[in-house]
Amino acid sequence: MIEKRDFYINGQWVAPATPNDCNVIDPSTEEVCAVISLGGQADTDAAVAAAKSAFGTWGFTPKAERLELIKTINEVYGKRAEDLAQAMSLEMGAPIDLARSSQVGAGSWHISNFIKAFENFEFDRMLGTHAPNDRILYEPIGVAALITPWNWPMNQVSLKVVAALAAGCTMVLKPSEVSPLSSIVWSEIMDEAGVPAGVYNMINGDGVGVGSQLTSHKDVDMVSFTGSTRAGIAISKAAADTLKRVSLELGGKGANIIFDDADDKAVVRGVRHMMQNTGQSCNAPSRMLVQRGVYDQAVEIARETAEKTSVDVASKEGRHIGPVVSELQWGKIQDLIQVGIDEGARLIAGGTGRPDGLNKGFFVKPTVFADVNNQMTIAREEIFGPVMAMIPFDTEEEAVEIANDTVYGLTNYVQTQDGARANRVARQMRSGMVEMNGTSRAAGSPFGGYKQSGNGREGGELGIEDFLEVKAVSGWSND
Ligand code: NAD
Repeated sequence: MIEKRDFYINGQWVAPATPNDCNVIDPSTEEVCAVISLGGQADTDAAVAAAKSAFGTWGFTPKAERLELIKTINEVYGKRAEDLAQAMSLEMGAPIDLARSSQVGAGSWHISNFIKAFENFEFDRMLGTHAPNDRILYEPIGVAALITPWNWPMNQVSLKVVAALAAGCTMVLKPSEVSPLSSIVWSEIMDEAGVPAGVYNMINGDGVGVGSQLTSHKDVDMVSFTGSTRAGIAISKAAADTLKRVSLELGGKGANIIFDDADDKAVVRGVRHMMQNTGQSCNAPSRMLVQRGVYDQAVEIARETAEKTSVDVASKEGRHIGPVVSELQWGKIQDLIQVGIDEGARLIAGGTGRPDGLNKGFFVKPTVFADVNNQMTIAREEIFGPVMAMIPFDTEEEAVEIANDTVYGLTNYVQTQDGARANRVARQMRSGMVEMNGTSRAAGSPFGGYKQSGNGREGGELGIEDFLEVKAVSGWSND
């Protein structure tokens, strides 16, 4: 049994002020795999005080010093890759091969991209040639509270911590209480890399405890949050009394528009993307919109692809999908599958209950519904499991209308071999990201949403800007 009750505050591992044990559950076995402690007000205050005190120095360090530190973090992260993969696989059920490649890989990708963006980042800029004595100074906002979810743990932690460090902020990280183990390894990495005491602090805790304490704390200047839209709303309200900046990365209900001239791998690619990480991705293409002429064929391909998706325990190597993260999520997904059936969608693969041969663990059958209309619950709510809804359409206008008819606006996908149409549709999507024909976004591309998917932008240059204040100075001496 792993016992990791301590928090990382002011460069030291310290015991919680008041012990408050919390079990971490292995979703493949439903058994307790670790014990952590949930922090309380005294721990939050200590971490925030350490960050506030360190800001006086860290906020004014030369860029080169911060860049060197981030490069060292990248090296130590690489050395600890296997520990991170094992931790994520255990705590949130990512199959070990996916944990090693995508879950750990996302962190390395973001750190490397930040290094490139940071090398070229100008903290002092001229307003323009018309005003040679006006300067725009980009300065760190101060103490940042970083609150992360369980679904892509190192992806989200690296996006926030490294951007905050580059900006010159100090910080308190509160990872999800459901997946705290990888963030404990991450904190060891920060320690080994030599992050100065107080610049980076980590406390475990839940949303109502440490989460609320951080988001309403008078000495926290900014909250960077990734998680559910529900929590994003609560956090915005809690932060309002002290008018903190709040940067939000929330849920999604992505449309994947498949036109009748899409390439012949488009449907398989869409279903596999949906099932990846057991459907627990905010940018999952969970609504597949298919043009009528190729609809029946697409339904058949989607059924076959879902049925071929194997499900197994996270510790096993291979390309299967793992369990969903918790009993709570498992129950919510089961209920939504039942609602899909009750509301008249046509179940073509999967359904309620566990897959054959898996009687324990939070396993869900890879599920596809056809003949869904966009008003059904399964087309409107983020299910956050391996469940895809197929919706037929006739015209481009109709596809755009259905895609945008959602409170979310994170990532939409377009599949067509007509370049002009692809670009036209991309412009009409009310979402922060559009990915076309299976091409993923390049290094440094900003990640974030429109509407109830949030307002922040993470990764690359814009990700660093999220943690900066802008100061306009006139009468600047150029002597
Ligand atoms: P969640 O909102 O329940 O929890 C996320 C984090 O917020 C956890 O650390 C939790 O302890 C904390 N939290 C919860 N309530 C809080 C409160 N009132 N005040 C302060 N902190 C609080 O979400 P989850 O179940 O961990 O993650 C799944 C959700 O995250 C999905 O909706 C998914 O779409 C979203 N998500 C979004 C992105 C993105 O970048 N847009 C990325 C990944 C996940």
